[in-house]
Amino acid sequence: MQYLRLHGIGGIGIIRMSGKDTFNILNKIFIQKNKKDLKDIPGYSMKYGHIINPNTNELIDEVLVSYFKSPKSYTTEDMCEINAHGGNIVIRKILETCIENGAKLANPGEFTKRAFLNGRIDLSQAESVIDIINSKTESETSASLKQLQGFLSKRIESVRQKLINIMVDIEANIDYPEYDLEEVSYNKTLNELNDIYNNLKQLENSFDNGKIIKEGLKVAIIGKPNAGKSSLLNSILKEERAIVTEYEGTTRDTIEEFVEIDGIPIKIIDTAGIRNATDEIEKIGIKKSLEMAEEADLIIAIFDITKKLDKEDIEILDLIKNKKNIIVLNKIDLIKVNVEIPKEIKDNKNIIKISALNKEGIEDLYNKIAELFRFNEIKNDNSLLITNIRHKENIKEANKNIKEAIKTLEDNMPIDIISINIKNALENLGYITGENVSESIINEIFKKFCLGK
Ligand code: GDP
Repeated sequence: MQYLRLHGIGGIGIIRMSGKDTFNILNKIFIQKNKKDLKDIPGYSMKYGHIINPNTNELIDEVLVSYFKSPKSYTTEDMCEINAHGGNIVIRKILETCIENGAKLANPGEFTKRAFLNGRIDLSQAESVIDIINSKTESETSASLKQLQGFLSKRIESVRQKLINIMVDIEANIDYPEYDLEEVSYNKTLNELNDIYNNLKQLENSFDNGKIIKEGLKVAIIGKPNAGKSSLLNSILKEERAIVTEYEGTTRDTIEEFVEIDGIPIKIIDTAGIRNATDEIEKIGIKKSLEMAEEADLIIAIFDITKKLDKEDIEILDLIKNKKNIIVLNKIDLIKVNVEIPKEIKDNKNIIKISALNKEGIEDLYNKIAELFRFNEIKNDNSLLITNIRHKENIKEANKNIKEAIKTLEDNMPIDIISINIKNALENLGYITGENVSESIINEIFKKFCLGK
């Protein structure tokens, strides 16, 4: 069965074919300039020639064809890539010719799915392919590349191996009780389980940083009308240090702006717009911003420094006190003397004075955000970061089982009781690499892929 795929319009259009009939089909439709037998064409080489319709001898395009011979190919099957001119008509015609000669159209993610099913990569590596394609920033790409190279797979595999060794020890205890391994095993197993727990916990925790890299830090700017929300947003978006990227915001009726500060993606939930809809009742407006800000990782509460804080400001302060927040005192350009911090917020550690209008203090605001979310650590962290919620959930589940096993041992229960927890943890971890994962989950994962990958 053949699989082929059409790429988007560009200077070059590539059609990929994979499967055992690839070269038979190619031979029918591809006339090489210097004709060589397939056996004389090494894998990873290119041939120049023309694609024709073998029934009509019609010339379709002048192309270069790459040959990949099984098992050394993306899918591990025989593969070729026809590099044609990028126009839609030409590509479509080549595609049709391939199909007329025995190929079948590929589904999204089909090539990567085959690479996984044929055992070249595991599931976590396959998932990283889509992450690389969808990456919005360099840090996200680098985290995904690490995953593609198999760093996560290796780490999970080494933990699994340790768990298997524990299982073997336990079995030995059951099978040869006369050896009295019990005492030694207890302590040894307990130590090993604690190591595994810490190892997995560290991986699980890395998701917080991984999530920031992947989804961006969600920041909401809130404040009363005229405090300067729009002006602040504008100065962030026009700032040189922040690269504005087009991003489709989808959450309810908020607008989301996507910027990248020092390589870290930041998604700004712009609640400024809602003021218009709720002009009559200002208070509801603020409540609504807060509702919208609920999913934010950080709230920037902006106040007009030229005005005394009123009841409503106090209410805002009260409502955000349980969230990570930065208090921004705006319009300092209007204050001639030293800016006095209102007593109600004096105790807050994260106060930044700015002039959104003159772009004064914006740098301080960035630095504060970077400090609060440890951007330096994220950027310089060369260890493995989990960026996929499916991986995190399975690691968490596995660690729950490890914790239970530890508790069982600490309670001096018979050692063989923990084998059920160990088995469960092994299964949880296996889901990450795709060992015992169900077909429906596999289909779900590959559905998210783009065509041609
Ligand atoms: P929003 O309603 O919170 O979005 O506030 P805007 O950003 O629309 O600002 C309200 C008014 O305050 C506008 O007339 C702005 O020009 C003005 N404004 C905002 N920031 C500053 C500032 O830093 N200094 C001064 N002097 N005016 C500002």
